[in-house]
Amino acid sequence: MKREDLIHPFVSGNKFRKLKYNLLEAKEQKKEILLTFGGAYSNHIAAVAFAGQQHGFKTIGIIRGEELGSQQDLNPTLSFAKSCGMQFEFVSREAYRLKSEESFIQDLRDTFGDFYLVPEGGTNALAVKGCQEILTEQDAGFDFICCAIGTGGTISGLINSAYPHQKVLGFPALKGDFLNDEIRIFAQNENWKLISDYHFGGYGKVNEELIAFMNHFFSTTQILLDPIYTGKMVYGVLDLIANNYFPSGSKILMIHTGGLQGIQGMNEKLSRKNVLTINVNV
Ligand SMILES: *Cc1c(COP(=O)(O)O)cnc(C)c1O
Repeated sequence: MKREDLIHPFVSGNKFRKLKYNLLEAKEQKKEILLTFGGAYSNHIAAVAFAGQQHGFKTIGIIRGEELGSQQDLNPTLSFAKSCGMQFEFVSREAYRLKSEESFIQDLRDTFGDFYLVPEGGTNALAVKGCQEILTEQDAGFDFICCAIGTGGTISGLINSAYPHQKVLGFPALKGDFLNDEIRIFAQNENWKLISDYHFGGYGKVNEELIAFMNHFFSTTQILLDPIYTGKMVYGVLDLIANNYFPSGSKILMIHTGGLQGIQGMNEKLSRKNVLTINVNV
């Protein structure tokens, strides 16, 4: 397992990779404000708030869900982002859907001034360039590279930097078949495949089997997984191994992209439902 989660205890490793060249570009363009979009538990929102503060940018988060405005201190992700200085604008789900439209963005410019726009989830060509730095020559001995997918930016970087003898397997954390097209926008090679059987009902959805698996994995390896992305991917890889998907003797590298900041928020939801929670203590 490649431990991108160790880059920072709270902020997802792959989100730092995705922001690296975007922050350089924002500085190049002499922007002082970063503006981006996300859900209330978003790893991306946490990362932009933290990295923005580190690099001297003002940050603005357009958050999906108007009802959150009054309870922003209660959610661990948003209170972390706020502690990093992020300013929030809570918008309705209907308004949020219009976020890529020029008129919506112009309204935001009228309100907040001249910002550098980071797309939802952070994926653009510069983000993919950053993710191309995840794999190094030291990883050349692996036959399979496995990672979780949200928007497809991270896997596109892995695909571009993988060696021709390597195959990249992506595990979508959500339902839908649009990801193949998204990935083709940024990925130049054909040595990859999506494994779509392990989304557990969709984005942000979990069940007791997944949580029990994550807890077992943690107690046997001391590696904490997150419930949105890496938990599902690792579950999938081990399930494929058990079902002889991989040729015998294959060397498999899993990318731990991080996401651990989301555990606290998920555990609060699970506790409210009185179901199994994610163990964070050995
Ligand atoms: C965002 C995220 C992903 C997905 O990355 P994409 O580039 O959007 O596909 C995977 N793992 C974690 C922990 C993330 O935060």
